[in-house]
Amino acid sequence: AAKGRGRGVWAAYEPHMSQALAEKNQLHDRLKQAMDRGGLELHYQPQVAVAGGGIVGVEALLRWHDPELGPISPERFIPVAVRSGLIQTLGDWVLDTACRQSAHWARAGTPVRISVNLSAQQFRQTDLVDRLAQLMAQHGTQPDMLELEITETEAMADPDMAREVLLRLRALGVSIALDDFGTGYSSLSYLRLLPVSRLKIDREFTRHIMSRPDDATLVRAVIALAHTLGLPVVAEGVETEGQLRFLRQHHCEVFQGWLYAKALPADEVSAMLLAELLPGEADEATPRYA
Ligand code: C2E
Ligand code: MG
Ligand code: MG
Ligand code: MG
Repeated sequence: AAKGRGRGVWAAYEPHMSQALAEKNQLHDRLKQAMDRGGLELHYQPQVAVAGGGIVGVEALLRWHDPELGPISPERFIPVAVRSGLIQTLGDWVLDTACRQSAHWARAGTPVRISVNLSAQQFRQTDLVDRLAQLMAQHGTQPDMLELEITETEAMADPDMAREVLLRLRALGVSIALDDFGTGYSSLSYLRLLPVSRLKIDREFTRHIMSRPDDATLVRAVIALAHTLGLPVVAEGVETEGQLRFLRQHHCEVFQGWLYAKALPADEVSAMLLAELLPGEADEATPRYA
């Protein structure tokens, strides 16, 4: 019944609704409230050079703490936002916030590239490129301080379309990372044609490199593939010294993971970036893994 009125429009509670559906309705209402009242935050997870240990970028990740439901993972609320159409507004807010933060870090003397996740819906918006250009101009964001992440699966769903949009984004000067790499079905010939700057290995593969030989093989193959294409690799979800050692052995360039830091509020990242500017003290302020 709820869906009868058209895509993305949810009717009020009905007794026969499954509990899962009722929960999604509640999540939708509360998410909308949070968006209206400024209840969402963008946190930033450091990306770190495997050799050297310096912060080379940060990934912007949405955080939502509902006063009653507690913290809710983007893996739960992004699909809700997609189904209900809220993702447009949410995606715009993320881009706006990231562009402003990037300009702020540059002005503060601690420029750092921010990687922003694009949903499939945003990626298909015809005015995405114009809106992004407008936001960067408005905030004075340097294009080389911005990277957009699109998943391998989304890029390969329509490689010709993806290539066209990515070329237009690249013309703005922003770089592109292929996210969750290894979970999709990239063909090498298409991959060659996509104007991407980095491959990000999905954390599901990083997770088991020390215990599952198949996953270790896959990670090694992805690194080799990326290097064949001349692309550096970012490994997500690095939690242990052993995983980092493996990545170093196989010449992965960048890692991201709890071993170094979780996604943090902007001011905590500012402190880390400032600490890196202070020679000598940096080693005490932030852990080193080089
Ligand atoms: P993703 O883009 O692949 O982001 C990486 C995820 O791995 C993040 O989950 C991050 O917190 C998590 N992660 C990083 N290091 C570790 C680690 O060492 N261990 C573990 N267990 N996890 C780690 P998060 O923040 O829950 O986000 C999940 C997904 O939600 C993201 O996956 C992304 O697809 C989506 N997402 C998050 N923020 C946004 C956003 O602003 N816009 C869009 N469209 N999607 C977003
Ligand atoms: Mg990502
Ligand atoms: Mg990812
Ligand atoms: Mg992911």
